[in-house]
Amino acid sequence: MGSDTLIQPMISLKDLFYSYPEQTKPALNGLSLRVPKESIFGILGPNGGGKSTTFKILSTLFKPDQGSVEIDGVDVVKSPSKVRSLLGIVFQSPALDKKLTVEENLHHQGHLYGIKGKLLEEKTEFLLKRLGLWEKRAERTENLSGGQKRRLEITKSLIHQPKILILDEPTTGLDPLARREVWNYLKFLRETEKITILVTTHLLEEAEDCDEIALIDQGRVVCEGRPSQLRHEMGSDLVSIRTSIPIELSESIQSKFDLSSSSLGNHLRVQPKDLESFVRFLVKEASSKLDNFTVGKPTLEDLFIEKTGHPFGIENTNKDSEVTA
Ligand code: ADP
Ligand code: MG
Repeated sequence: MGSDTLIQPMISLKDLFYSYPEQTKPALNGLSLRVPKESIFGILGPNGGGKSTTFKILSTLFKPDQGSVEIDGVDVVKSPSKVRSLLGIVFQSPALDKKLTVEENLHHQGHLYGIKGKLLEEKTEFLLKRLGLWEKRAERTENLSGGQKRRLEITKSLIHQPKILILDEPTTGLDPLARREVWNYLKFLRETEKITILVTTHLLEEAEDCDEIALIDQGRVVCEGRPSQLRHEMGSDLVSIRTSIPIELSESIQSKFDLSSSSLGNHLRVQPKDLESFVRFLVKEASSKLDNFTVGKPTLEDLFIEKTGHPFGIENTNKDSEVTA
């Protein structure tokens, strides 16, 4: 493990601060993270957490107020055009020309990067064949399925052979099947192109598709690591209890088991050392104080709650009105 930290990361963000004018709270509030080479790295956070702001800084659209951003050792603020040639960028809002065919969309993108003629033809054919869209090349983009459109968008961003692909919420608005299609595609890319992929999402269940994740909230990283490692660190079984008298119940748990419970409204969360006797207590002695309870392994959402004191789905802002599951 020790040697991992010596390897230069592909993306390194240090103490980033960014505030939008007229907003009282900063959008980024000391955000730091390191993305290893050739991995799929997920930035997971609720709406308003700072994902798109981070993304815009990475894609050189915004300059941070403070902090440093390096991509493949290049300073993003000092050398934005050098960085842009390293990056494939997929923005959250679709950027395809629907009236053009699949092939024409790639040609158009090639022209933006100064790729023309035979070379462009070759690159287009290579990418479309490699990435399973060759049969669709003459199809108008508007006729593609949601998943195919997203795949085309990703393919388009690869025309100049970037070392790093960054995507802002690429699966938002897609049905579960199309989401899977996009994730499989990203994994395929990581394998075949040896590319580093940074992806943002507000869906905690997508964590398992990433090699490493950073959970972010209110513009800073709450925790970072491999999903399995984070789950492991969460430890033993978690008992979630719904009750109309959380304070009273939490006091009796404290006195009987010397255990503190975290509470969120009418919801108590406890990690007992001896699960069996704790459950026996709930069923026999405390049943009048509770509505129901569940026992399970702690999830990433539990970790998020533990670190932030609030549920993942709660918005931090009044800007985005999209509701998170
Ligand atoms: P996410 O992508 O995780 O939903 P954002 O980076 O879009 O989060 O937003 C982070 C914070 O910055 C939020 O508080 C949001 O309201 C605020 N914010 C984002 N874009 C703007 C903007 N254009 N003007 C003012 N505030 C903004
Ligand atoms: Mg966003």
